[in-house]
This record gives sequence, C-alpha cells and structure tokens, in this order.
Amino acid sequence: MRRKIVAGNWKMNKTYSEAISLADDFFQLAAKDPSDSVLTIIAPPFPFLREISKCLEGQPGIFVAAQNCHHENSGAFTGEVSASMIRSADASHVIIGHSERRQYFAETGEQLLKKVNRALENELTVIFCIGETSEQRNSDIHFSVIRQQLEEVVFHLGEEILSAGKIILAYEPVWAIGTGVNASAAQAQEMHAFIREQLRGKFSAATVNEKVSILYGGSCNTGNAAELFAQPDVDGGLIGGASLKAADFAAIRRIMIGQAGL
Ligand code: PEP
Repeated sequence: MRRKIVAGNWKMNKTYSEAISLADDFFQLAAKDPSDSVLTIIAPPFPFLREISKCLEGQPGIFVAAQNCHHENSGAFTGEVSASMIRSADASHVIIGHSERRQYFAETGEQLLKKVNRALENELTVIFCIGETSEQRNSDIHFSVIRQQLEEVVFHLGEEILSAGKIILAYEPVWAIGTGVNASAAQAQEMHAFIREQLRGKFSAATVNEKVSILYGGSCNTGNAAELFAQPDVDGGLIGGASLKAADFAAIRRIMIGQAGL
C-alpha cells in the first residue's frame, strides 16, 4: 500500500509568533483526527523548523519539512541552509525542486540532483516537485517535460532509495500553483499515471506501485481535494495557500483520512 500524504508548504509566510500559533492551531485540530497511517507534513520557513519540530512530540504521523536546502553540508555560502543543518533541527523531510525555486532561483536539474543526494545522505526524505508551465502544456510537450524532469534527477537514484520510501513525488503544474485554477481530477490522474509508467521503465513495478507516493499540488483546497484524492494514482496533496489556514489544512487532511478508510 502506498502511503497517503498531505503536506503543507507555507512558503515565505508568517512571522515567528504567527507560525507558532498556526502550528498549534493545526496540531489541536489534527489531534481530533489521529491517524498515523496518513502521513502529515508541514513545511514552515527555516527559522521556525526547530521550534515547530519540538511541538510534534505526542503528534504521531506528523512531520516537519524544510522548503529547500543547499547541496553542500557547510562552507562559504552566505545565506544558505544545508541539509545537515535541517536534520540537526529535527526536521525529517525537505522539499526540493519546487517550481518557484526553479523559476526564481534558476535551479537546474543538475543542481537539484546534488541537493537530493545531499538530503538523502543526511537522512532526510525528499519531496521532489515536477510540473509543466502553461506554455508547455499548450504546446503539447507537457509529458516530455515531466519525463525530462524525472530523468534529470529521479532516474539517477538507486532502487533502494525509492523502495525505502525516501522519495515522495509532487506533480505540481506551474499554471495551477497559487492561481486558484487546479488541474482537473482527470488531468491529475492522467499525469500521475504517466509518471508511474515512466518510473516503471526504470525501477521495479513493486517499488513503483507500492512505495512511491505521488502528490498533486496546485490550488488544492477543501472544495476540490476529495475529487483529486479519489484518483487511483493520486496519493495525496502538496498544499500551498490552503495550508496557511489551520482549519482548511486540517479539513484537507480529514478528507485524505476519510478516503484512506482509516
Ligand atoms: C505549492 O506551492 O506547492 C502549491 C501547491 O501552492 P498552492 O496550493 O497555493 O497552489
């Protein structure tokens, strides 16, 4: 059984006190629906990782992620944060390859592969994001774009990494992120099935079918989560805007728990 996952990406939002109260509010709501089968991940900004990780005690099935990491463990890289630092702050996951990083910070496939390897070396589980722009979809090259993003990074990893569940994929069409226009359930399912088929060309069917969760991201909210999560190849969501409201993120998590039948 593939793990069902809801992950909240807070991006560059919230001050310290706001972040702590958002986490507290969410934890209180989540405690009403305990589930260690649906994995819940929250990705606050770097300065809050340690504090929020500390609050996780007594919250089974909830984990903390960073939103990025540098590809070196330490050194003269002013302003950067390494995977080893993230791990030492008790976060367990890291988002790598988010389209905002690719777009605004010009992160390339080559750099992303280095980051993923460094994160894995530091025992972080990676949420690796892939997705096409609207121009690419309109030019009908969206499948080849996704194939290339997988080839650049995921295809370089060993079977043992994927079979250990150390890579979670997030399909996030760039045109759906923060726009209020989500991919339809059919579009999400079509691409998730395509991703799984590509992975089966490289890794064993058992690993791909059982161990690689593929999340959908892009304007996922309380109104559309049920339909998106009901698709056979959609294993949950990476949620941006809606994760900034404790009640909405808790409701999306509840939908996932309901669908997982747990
Ligand atoms: C994201 O940034 O990963 C995301 C999916 O954002 P939103 O839900 O706001 O579209």
